Amino acid sequence: MVSSPQAPVKPRVYLIGTGGSISFIGDHRTDYVNYSYHNRHLTIEQMLERVPEAAAIAEVRPEQLLNVGSASVTPAHWLELARRVNDIFAQDPQAAGIAVTHGTATLEETAYFLNLTVKDHRPVVITGAMRPPTGLGTDSDVNLLDCLRVAAAPQSAGRGVLTVLNNEIQGARDVTKSNSYRLETFRSGELGCLGYADSDEQVVFYRTPTRTHTLDTEFAVDELTELPRVDIAYAYAGADGLVVNALVEGGAAGIVAAGLGGGGSSPEFMTALRAAQRRGVPVAVATQTGNGRVMRSRRFVEDGYIAADNLAPKKARILLMLALTRTKDPAELQRMMLEY
Ligand code: ASP
Repeated sequence: MVSSPQAPVKPRVYLIGTGGSISFIGDHRTDYVNYSYHNRHLTIEQMLERVPEAAAIAEVRPEQLLNVGSASVTPAHWLELARRVNDIFAQDPQAAGIAVTHGTATLEETAYFLNLTVKDHRPVVITGAMRPPTGLGTDSDVNLLDCLRVAAAPQSAGRGVLTVLNNEIQGARDVTKSNSYRLETFRSGELGCLGYADSDEQVVFYRTPTRTHTLDTEFAVDELTELPRVDIAYAYAGADGLVVNALVEGGAAGIVAAGLGGGGSSPEFMTALRAAQRRGVPVAVATQTGNGRVMRSRRFVEDGYIAADNLAPKKARILLMLALTRTKDPAELQRMMLEY
């Protein structure tokens, strides 16, 4: 008897749907603006049905965790998602990677949270879309395929959590949404993307993140039900202490100052930050410029602030939330801010 040739085993990729423009159902083909109004979504299974090409890339296992616009995603959802990702990896040694669909508004935040809390080196890749699947020229289907392809690729492993949109692969720590409507919105500032999920169906990397991530971090969130509250205070000309003082009164466990330029702000704003710090509320100083570092200047060190290096304020907030689950020691908080 001649045995039939075995079909090649395809990598197994889990696909977790959470919502966003990539799942929203608009009213007509040129509805690019109001499609979220009725809050109607495709399920992750329906999204997958639109791309039969996926079957050639991977054995895909879809599941729906949420189906919401990403402005509604909260830290409680981050914990739920991290737990699910960690469960999949713990239970399935055959899983090649995990793809996640997400709204673009907070995609970079979810990506960085997972970058610090997933306990595996296998790829976790997040995508979204700038045009809903019902719109002409939608990027939903291509981005979903690219996401599955990057999650299935062995060369994606060990690089931390990745994002892929518009064929560009970015690292979770540096990526940010930089334009409200354009397809090429996800950027890593002047540091640049890591590689491409390109038109010849190749997944190509040129660089890799250097900061500690995933399996090598000290953060363990699987048992946590909530995270310490950390808020962001945005500096501008003439900003006084009103917002910072209100945050302290409101019970913030930590504050990130989105400072001007190198991190400084108006004298009244700085006075309020110093008072917060003295009341035991750690203050991390980040820059609102989008590129470059906040350095440990003489003033910042004397006042006890944590310098956020080149982390965007939203990313510094996530790291401070996680750091505060471990310690309140200022030196340790500073170490973590520079390590991750
Ligand atoms: N409103 C959408 C969201 O869920 C925007 C998007 O996905 O592009 O973030």
